[in-house]
Amino acid sequence: MPRHRPPSIRASKDCAACGRPFQWRKKWEKVWEEVKYCSDRCRHDRNRAKHV
Ligand SMILES: [Zn+2]
Repeated sequence: MPRHRPPSIRASKDCAACGRPFQWRKKWEKVWEEVKYCSDRCRHDRNRAKHV
């Protein structure tokens, strides 16, 4: 793994639920590596879909 990454990678991701890119947020500072969804709504949608 490179020691430092381009800022562009850290700045945004694609949501695993809706597939849209979302921006880095201060509240995700510590968990950005684990963030997969752009919002709670998408996260809940994803969880619900698992059981269908
Ligand atoms: Zn989303």
